[in-house]
Amino acid sequence: MKTRKTARPVTAADHAPAATGETPAPPSRPLPGLRLGPHLTTAGGLGHTALLAEEVGANTFQFFTRNPRGGAARAITDQEIEEWQKERQRLGLYPVVGHLPYTVNLAAPNPETHAFAARILAEDWQRMALLGVEYLVVHPGSHGGAGADAGIDRIVAAISTALEKTNGPEMLLLETMAGQGSEVGGHLEELATILERLGNPPQVGVCLDSCHLFAAGHDLSTPEGVDRLLRELDRTVGLERVKASHLNDSKVELASRRDRHERIGQGRLGDNGIGAYVRNPFIARLPLLLETPVEDYREYAQEIRRVLRLAGQQAGPAAQASGA
Ligand SMILES: [Zn+2]
Ligand SMILES: [Zn+2]
Repeated sequence: MKTRKTARPVTAADHAPAATGETPAPPSRPLPGLRLGPHLTTAGGLGHTALLAEEVGANTFQFFTRNPRGGAARAITDQEIEEWQKERQRLGLYPVVGHLPYTVNLAAPNPETHAFAARILAEDWQRMALLGVEYLVVHPGSHGGAGADAGIDRIVAAISTALEKTNGPEMLLLETMAGQGSEVGGHLEELATILERLGNPPQVGVCLDSCHLFAAGHDLSTPEGVDRLLRELDRTVGLERVKASHLNDSKVELASRRDRHERIGQGRLGDNGIGAYVRNPFIARLPLLLETPVEDYREYAQEIRRVLRLAGQQAGPAAQASGA
């Protein structure tokens, strides 16, 4: 049985007051307040990815744990680990998020596809532990017509197996989905069921996605809508399970159940919606990862500046803690 924590409304008091009159940090330094960064390539090793994050003014980032089409994993050398640890320390990149390839389908009805997905999950969770990467995000999966309940059974089986091989603090985060086709995770109750069936292990949590949530019917375009979402999250998965969020605008309308990312401010959420989202005190404390359709990673510098402007560019707890 799941023991429910006491529900407590999130208030502005949860957010440390913004420092006033601070000198803005130079672009190469971690951003004040928000933990914000894009999805980046790891071609060249994770130490090199850290430099790309620095270049666009990010203080966190996300990357694919292996080729997005699910190919063989790159071998991680001791030298790569050393270089990565050195750069992340220097640049204050924290927390960092690995994303499993989209082809990993933990809900797959086909036994071979399911076994493959379960194996990749276990392997990449261990690889993230080796790199000291805090979070590993996975799409719950698609049941392929077998129904959400059958899909959830398979997801729970795959994660249970992987959990037996994991002992680090690195967390697996189930992503909230748009609910496209036979996707599991378009309803928060489905994620709650998975967590409950796993016995609410401390190593499993939830990653939000502003675009997916909007497409799944959560109207995030106003502060009231974001508050409503948080109450829903608290009632279902529990707010304490929510550890990160993808920050994307949506090309398609509310409740369209289609997953189409758009550049920040240019979609149906728009500047007002993204602003309402990132100014929410609970959301503002999560690492926010951009997966917006840029032509070139350098354009993420503009996306980051736009989010900071929408967030009011206030120095928050992170900046105060680090004395930036
Ligand atoms: Zn994702
Ligand atoms: Zn998406």
